[in-house]
Amino acid sequence: MFNLILFGPPGSGKGTQSDLLVSKYGLVHLSTGNLLRSEIADKTPLGIEAKNFMDKGQLVPDEVVIGMIDNCLELHKDAGGFLFDGFPRTANQAKALDKLLELKRTAIHSVLALEVTEEELVKRLLERGKTSGRSDDTNEAVIRNRFAVYQNETAPVAEHYKAQHKFKAIPGEGTVADISAALGEQIDKVLERQRKEQEAFE
Ligand code: ADP
Repeated sequence: MFNLILFGPPGSGKGTQSDLLVSKYGLVHLSTGNLLRSEIADKTPLGIEAKNFMDKGQLVPDEVVIGMIDNCLELHKDAGGFLFDGFPRTANQAKALDKLLELKRTAIHSVLALEVTEEELVKRLLERGKTSGRSDDTNEAVIRNRFAVYQNETAPVAEHYKAQHKFKAIPGEGTVADISAALGEQIDKVLERQRKEQEAFE
């Protein structure tokens, strides 16, 4: 199995790059943002609860998103690997994910973090807000709050994976193709290392 986390602040391009990577590497895409928006569209109780947090730029409670991820892992038992996008977003979620994967006799193999300046992020999000229909992208105060939440609660997730030697930063400014190539290069390195370890083990 190959399990990847695409990490980075709101607007760093995780969604765009995820779409390219899942088809290239045959991974199942798990985006908590997309899953939550689909719950909202279906007006489920979970969606109705989550919307209150998302509209303010706050995080949805850990137990809600962890439960969603657990369900998805169960749904895709035969997957060759997962790409986690927008999850884990707190140290607590990272610990829970480690446990869930351990139960399935697997682990996170690589965490790639897209780095983009805050000025560029605000510009991208306000631009996206014009067409995406996402209410959390139209209000600059909500966008700024999401950055504050990212700094306070999500940035520590990087430390969790740095301690496991799985973390690598990738420049997130440039063309979509260049960034995708940089991500692919890093993934190929990790896959090659995994293949060698497997060979040595056999
Ligand atoms: P972005 O990366 O642009 O912030 P997402 O689609 O990943 O967009 O997330 C949108 C919102 O959904 C977040 O601001 C948050 O309220 C909620 N959300 C998404 N993923 C999580 C998560 N793992 N934990 C808590 N809340 C989440």
